[in-house]
Amino acid sequence: MSKYTYITKECLFCSSTDAANHPVVYHKNFKDEDLNAEVFEARKTTKHTHYEMVKCLKTGLIFSRHILDDASLNELYKGSAINFNEMLEYIKNDYWQPIANYVKGWTRKKAVDIGCSTGFFLEALKDNGYEEVYGVEPGVEPKAIARADIRDNIHTGFYGKGLYPPNHFDLITCFQTLDHLSDPLGMLANMRENLKPGGHVYMIMHNSNALQARLFGEKSPIIDVEHIYLFNKENIKLLGEKAGFKVVEVFDIVSRYPFSYWLRMAPLPLKKMWIGLFKATGMYNKIMPMKAGNMGIILEK
Ligand SMILES: [Zn+2]
Repeated sequence: MSKYTYITKECLFCSSTDAANHPVVYHKNFKDEDLNAEVFEARKTTKHTHYEMVKCLKTGLIFSRHILDDASLNELYKGSAINFNEMLEYIKNDYWQPIANYVKGWTRKKAVDIGCSTGFFLEALKDNGYEEVYGVEPGVEPKAIARADIRDNIHTGFYGKGLYPPNHFDLITCFQTLDHLSDPLGMLANMRENLKPGGHVYMIMHNSNALQARLFGEKSPIIDVEHIYLFNKENIKLLGEKAGFKVVEVFDIVSRYPFSYWLRMAPLPLKKMWIGLFKATGMYNKIMPMKAGNMGIILEK
């Protein structure tokens, strides 16, 4: 018998998850014996382990149908190594650009970033006029290296009901977290409660309908055991509306990374040969803007 317990997830939009409208798109590709902490590391380069994934024919929502329960997940995540993203300075700019113009017209008093890691986006918010910035991050390591003026405002733990007062924030941000949650609507409900009327949510997540995702299919890095619900530009709007928000805008995120980074991340065969080739051309360290399959959404309470 397996030492892990599974729970079943439902479509976020249909009242029932009937097989006729939610066919299997990818079959589960692991046995419980294969599971270990390494499988749950964020930047693994090994093959992607995934649950059985189904697709809602009405909304295009792709989701993991039978997932490990929280206790099993916590056990596996506990042992997985934290690897900090060496691209944080680039990411900070890429994530800031889409709201740079919007914030000029917004009240910039209190903001919180959910899953804030080292607080890199809190730096951007503070440096762009937000008076008080807060962060929520389950890992203890990222807080230790956070900027000194931000560190004390990072709460170690999970975001949930009651952590912050109602009608409190002008802006709530959340990056690359939504697709990892087993209850995304629950998080949006908490955000809505914590926001002031007229306040905004800004989230970034994978786009399941992006070119890369369509091209690589099951081999795409987004088809992974860490992802429970995967959204596209249409159904992310539905999710925002279902949570009671007004959708302001949905857009592609442009990533501006050195070419060497793209090459290392690409699911290519003969990678060493490609790296050698591009090092020789001098292109290797050039900054190259690309739509890497991420999208952003801005919601208003
Ligand atoms: Zn459905």
